Amino acid sequence: MIFFDIIGHAAARKSLCDAVKRNRISNAYIFCGRPGIGRTSLAMAYAAYLNCNGRTSDDACGVCSSCLKIASGGHPDVTVLKPERAVIRIDDVREMIRDCIYPPFEGNWKVYIIDDADRLGEGAANAMLKTLEEAPARAVFILIAGSAANLLPTIASRCQIVELFAPSRDELLDGLRRNVASTDVSRADAAYRLSGGLPSKAFKILKGEDISLEKDLWEELMEHILSRDPLRALRAAECMQVMAAEYGDRIEGIIGVLDEVCRRIVRNTIENAEGPSAAIAISLAEEAKAALRLNANPQLTLESFIIQLQLRG
Ligand SMILES: [Zn+2]
Repeated sequence: MIFFDIIGHAAARKSLCDAVKRNRISNAYIFCGRPGIGRTSLAMAYAAYLNCNGRTSDDACGVCSSCLKIASGGHPDVTVLKPERAVIRIDDVREMIRDCIYPPFEGNWKVYIIDDADRLGEGAANAMLKTLEEAPARAVFILIAGSAANLLPTIASRCQIVELFAPSRDELLDGLRRNVASTDVSRADAAYRLSGGLPSKAFKILKGEDISLEKDLWEELMEHILSRDPLRALRAAECMQVMAAEYGDRIEGIIGVLDEVCRRIVRNTIENAEGPSAAIAISLAEEAKAALRLNANPQLTLESFIIQLQLRG
């Protein structure tokens, strides 16, 4: 993990690099922001930058022995503390405190990343306090937290606070396409929308881990259709185009999606007796399919289908 792999956080990256160039590296940071926006990834990239043997002005090289060891989790000078059963164990903190007084084993800096530092118990936080007050010269502590306010004020006041925000749509789409092979624009866009802008969730969606892209898309589409909100209708048409792209042939894909929408509306009518009429949905879908086979514009046909369904269904 180097800065190149990070999605967003350009301002934070620049400020971290500038501090290194000016030799003003802080011994303690809090990287704070919503879980899933890449806080720990940024901390790992910073650890790589600090220890890289061939870094440029704005990134680690990613290929030297130090970068490779950090990427594999095997660098002796980079330690990640994680909560166990929802708390960071005081014994782990004590071990870190004992360890940090020794100089780096092979790198330039010892880096300790404390994940979910919001879960430092009071005992563990107090144990850290003295170390943060008089941090060893070549040690950097990076606390990952939802907010600096979740930490003891005595801890927060000794750290440089780095506020992190979710990446923009363009940053996330660009990052997804760079990092996940064979990602086309429509799949990346669907993953962006379903992830709520969180890179880690978007990656899982794209890689088919944890969350099923198809299942979520169908849920989103049917919510739009059943909401009877005209403003959401166009989003439904977008969803249908994304799903249709999964098929080899675009028109056959859209026809397949139209058929499945009808099946789901029939099921919904049986279960809820509310929502669009199944008979009207089937009739509108047949009209749309006929138009598509006569080379009608797919986007306009889908939008017309959805809007007619909202008005007449
Ligand atoms: Zn390197």
